[in-house]
Amino acid sequence: MTFDPWGATKITDYEHAFKKFGLEKFDKAKFPIDHYLFRRNLIIAHRDFGKYYDRIKSKKTFLQLTGIASSGNLHFGHKVDIDLFRVFKDLGAKGYFCVCDLDAYTSRPDKKIPDLKTAKEYAVKNTAHLIAFGFTSKDIYVQSRKSSRYYEFVFEISKKITSNMFEAVYGHKDLGKVSAVLLQLADIIHVQLPEFFGKNPSLTGIGLDQDPHAKITRDVAKRLPYDIETPSFIYFLHQSGLKEGSKMSSSEPATAIFLDDSPDVVKKKINRTFTGGKDSVEEQREKGGNPDICKVYEFFRFHHPDDSYLVNLGKECRSGKILCGECKGNCVKFINDFLEGHQKKYKKALPEAKKIVYG
Ligand code: SF4
Repeated sequence: MTFDPWGATKITDYEHAFKKFGLEKFDKAKFPIDHYLFRRNLIIAHRDFGKYYDRIKSKKTFLQLTGIASSGNLHFGHKVDIDLFRVFKDLGAKGYFCVCDLDAYTSRPDKKIPDLKTAKEYAVKNTAHLIAFGFTSKDIYVQSRKSSRYYEFVFEISKKITSNMFEAVYGHKDLGKVSAVLLQLADIIHVQLPEFFGKNPSLTGIGLDQDPHAKITRDVAKRLPYDIETPSFIYFLHQSGLKEGSKMSSSEPATAIFLDDSPDVVKKKINRTFTGGKDSVEEQREKGGNPDICKVYEFFRFHHPDDSYLVNLGKECRSGKILCGECKGNCVKFINDFLEGHQKKYKKALPEAKKIVYG
């Protein structure tokens, strides 16, 4: 088993992945963080989270850095990353949300991102969404507009990665992806440089398929000529696509609800979503549905803030009290109510987002 950080394949055999790659399972009793992402077991593993959690408890400085490649429009699968950043910001973390325009251009195929201009156009949209989620220009940076110190640091990092090392971790030496990895490492580690927040435990939230980045980051951080903490990582579950099997991905628009989808598009996509319902109304009334395999239930699990809503829905589904038609209607309303407010804030944020991206 190998992970492809740039692929759209969904990882299903988590136990095997934990064993093979030496990740620790996330123990929510040991690290009780009061947010539904943690309560609902959507945070599954970590590397070195203990020292970070100690900092949160002792109220000393702790840092975070996360980012999204501006290689497409944001969808609800990305929202987990954004929600996680909010959780640690609210707990007191200092740090940044990186809008990765250069990374998106260098690591994605030309048919997806043909030029830097396209990556920057996505960067504007993604930045406006981040502002709509309540972040400010102090929380966000765009790679292409980062300071010269950051770029010096990218070159310092390049001296600590050999081509053999890169190939051993990623299985290839694609030069565009090498550049993207150098930028990602600089993103994650630079927060600890004296010119930024200085040496402190730092955290980055990623999906399991991004683990190669975590491994190489931690390895390089130990060999840099700076007194820094080895960065910690936590791993979240990827939200599935709306169809059976795939992960929610902008490469497959039919599998995803985008943050700029219209109410009609949301309705169409949810109505076509794979559920755990039975073949007939009678059978479902009698035997109940199966929320464990249902993508509508999964949508609520990833995004509905109220735990009791989820518990009740599970009970009503299994008992056959609620049917899929009504349940999908509730999901459409839930999404469209959220998007109505979010899209208003997004439109208002666009001028500021342009300024952040183009100056
Ligand atoms: S009733 Fe809702 S949760 Fe249950 S299978 Fe149907 S859509 Fe899924």
